[in-house]
Amino acid sequence: MSIKSLGFEEIDSRATKLREIAKHYPPQQSFSLISDGDRFLRANPLVPIIGTICDQQITAEDAWEFPLWLSVKVDPRDFTAENLGRLGQSGIAEFLNDYMSDRWPSGMSGEDQRKYLQNVSRYITDTCNMIVKNFGNNPDKMFKLGNYTVPQVYFVLRGLPGFGAKKASMITRDFALSTGSWFLGIRERLKKDAGIDFHVSQKHLSEVPVDVQVVKVFGRIMGEFQRTPPRSDFMKYYPDIQHLSKLVFPEFPSKLDEILWAAGREYCDNMLPKCNECPLIKLPCDYAASK
Ligand code: SF4
Repeated sequence: MSIKSLGFEEIDSRATKLREIAKHYPPQQSFSLISDGDRFLRANPLVPIIGTICDQQITAEDAWEFPLWLSVKVDPRDFTAENLGRLGQSGIAEFLNDYMSDRWPSGMSGEDQRKYLQNVSRYITDTCNMIVKNFGNNPDKMFKLGNYTVPQVYFVLRGLPGFGAKKASMITRDFALSTGSWFLGIRERLKKDAGIDFHVSQKHLSEVPVDVQVVKVFGRIMGEFQRTPPRSDFMKYYPDIQHLSKLVFPEFPSKLDEILWAAGREYCDNMLPKCNECPLIKLPCDYAASK
């Protein structure tokens, strides 16, 4: 099957079932550290920015742990954009290399590791310099207007080096939900330091952050493909995913990401999907039916 052969009524029925499943299937939590890490994440405005920049190709846990690890090395009281910027790209890359030495994903080639260190250290340095130049060394000033719509938050974040469309959409989704340590930290500090009431409106304008998990599960449940296509083809599925999200959750479309992403990570392995345990088998899922 495929979107064309399913037809509108079947797609609409699957959208209704997705909405039902989402009531029971654990929603995706925005990643946050526990204990000291979580407190630091919420207290220091630079920590979630560094964590988000690092969050590609390596595990989210390792990415978000890095700023905490780095802060211990450079002194948590001095963990500012200005001080990190002074380390320069080579200094950041050296710390990152040290931190990642026993954490690299097993399948990641030496060349990909080298590119990761080069790109991420450059993004961190450029972001720190930008925060110093544009926001007086205070990242919270990005949101000094207080009242933002979803698209406005997206473009504020998108302006940061290292924040591509997917990362900006993910963080925007958390902000639209008024959740996550990053949002809560900004809200507390802006209120306390400047009397600004930071909030984000128009959740219905949010979009699904499209990544490999989302494309894979979308394509399988709708019968578009069995093997996940290369990243260069993801844009082909982008409009269908966004329109499905509006059909399932018109009041908050990016919520669809929670269920697709979670199913992709928990059950929908590329080679050995655990269909019998996956809640999406009830849709029905075309790939599971074909097996
Ligand atoms: S039912 Fe199977 S193929 Fe379909 S989304 Fe779940 S794990 Fe993937």
